[in-house]
Amino acid sequence: MSQDNTGSTVTVYAQTNLPTLFGEFRVTVFHNAVDEKEHLAISAGDLSAMKEVPVRIHSECLTSEVLGSLKCDCREQLHAALEKIAREGGVLLYMRQEGRGIGLGNKIRAYALQEEGYDTVEANHILGFPDDLRRYDLAAAMLREMGITTIRLMTNNPKKIKGLEEMGISVVARIPLEITPNEVNREYLKTKARKSGHLLQLPDTLKKMTLVG
Ligand SMILES: [Zn+2]
Repeated sequence: MSQDNTGSTVTVYAQTNLPTLFGEFRVTVFHNAVDEKEHLAISAGDLSAMKEVPVRIHSECLTSEVLGSLKCDCREQLHAALEKIAREGGVLLYMRQEGRGIGLGNKIRAYALQEEGYDTVEANHILGFPDDLRRYDLAAAMLREMGITTIRLMTNNPKKIKGLEEMGISVVARIPLEITPNEVNREYLKTKARKSGHLLQLPDTLKKMTLVG
């Protein structure tokens, strides 16, 4: 049991080895007293021997990861992170917070608004949500439960670094995770960079995913 700054608790509920398309992983499912969702950690390598553990905190995205939607870059980011972790060791926290925390139904409502010409951020505001409802207390508690307090974070989002540090995790470096846009998600990625402060270099070319760093 691990207690974080806000008093939330997480416990390891189940753990097993999992061979995947990307490599061999250890999967750990957590239960928590905050949102009743089963968040999980997918890890590889000897974490206790790593001083600065490479970590990706990834939010569930059913539309891209299951349905193959081209409207965002979540699936490519997930796969790139899993490939890197299988190769070099580290942890991916898979957080069951669809649509940056607004839920699947509201994400689809936001997509419908985007068909009317609004961008991601505007659509969320019209629905009464802030740009980003993701929270980092549970992620931090999960890392602590795994004995991890010093990390290198795979992200393009400076808010994630700040959110984790506020929860007592030391982020000593950022590992960029950049995906080359396709013709559908290019505007979405531009909005991420322009309005949400993501550190993205968007090349003019539209092609398959690449992993930088
Ligand atoms: Zn997505």
